[in-house]
Amino acid sequence: MELDSNSVSTYQSVRVLGTRVDVITQAALEAEISARLAGARLCRVAKLNAEFLMRAADDPEFAAYLENSDLNIADGAGVVWAARFLSLPTTSRAGLRAFQVVGQALVSLVALLLRPAYCRGPLPERIPGVEALHTMLEAAVETRSPVFFFGSKAEVNQRARELLARQHPGLIIAGGCHGYQPDSEAPLRQIEASGARLLIVALGSPKQEYWIRDHGKALSTVRVAVGEGGSLDFIAGDSRRAPRWMQERGLEWLWRLLMNEDRTGRKSRPRRAWDSVPRFIWRVVVWKLRHGARQGALDAP
Ligand code: UDP
Repeated sequence: MELDSNSVSTYQSVRVLGTRVDVITQAALEAEISARLAGARLCRVAKLNAEFLMRAADDPEFAAYLENSDLNIADGAGVVWAARFLSLPTTSRAGLRAFQVVGQALVSLVALLLRPAYCRGPLPERIPGVEALHTMLEAAVETRSPVFFFGSKAEVNQRARELLARQHPGLIIAGGCHGYQPDSEAPLRQIEASGARLLIVALGSPKQEYWIRDHGKALSTVRVAVGEGGSLDFIAGDSRRAPRWMQERGLEWLWRLLMNEDRTGRKSRPRRAWDSVPRFIWRVVVWKLRHGARQGALDAP
């Protein structure tokens, strides 16, 4: 077991394509967020999927953000699969190793489809973004922490807030504003004036992470800031989530491919899903061939 003394997180973690992913269950997440909301300093939370890990592997600025993030949650099934695959031991005999690694990749991918539980460990489970959001809102209810929703289209933001207030009795909504503002100071002032302790930032990645990095410290009341991605669109019903059986088998990317959604005007979702899944698998396999199985080992807190 390798020690990771640079880690800001107090959790055990694994490395996937060089990025730290924290070992945490959904059950433990609520207690962790409650503690952070009651704490004295800002905690930055990132929800990692395959696209995040590939971006971090290519972009040192994004990698640095994730390294300094306080909590890196495994959002995508691909992340859980990669951690499992990378943790499988390999032989030291060079000639055999390539065959073994390719065999492990095939077996673990088939296992993900047929018996998703096989991929649990070293990461215990994936915590899908929308579910992590509900868990954090429950922590906000418990600690009576006001929540601010920043990002998504104005009508999505408004509808999501209304629905979430109904789903979480006792939730204190400090405010909300859409994410298409040319002036970055305006939301900053609104959030500061709201007195929010939990800040949900849904601007898409990496915009939301860099916004938190650049402005988080200026927000005197915020204790937890989360890069939310597209969760508000799912909550407001603007996007439909994949059926549960597809989510469990790591097939959410296929759903996005078939649903042909493109809300943001950036590279289309189907294109992103196609780009990230086969390329991600390939990169993780090549990474293991280069670095061996130690990369999937658990790091201590
Ligand atoms: N978004 C925003 N401002 C922008 C770009 C995107 O508020 O300048 C919102 C967008 O409306 C969506 C969310 O960011 O609600 C996440 O977008 P996407 O689903 O592309 O991000 P991902 O979850 O893939 O990171």
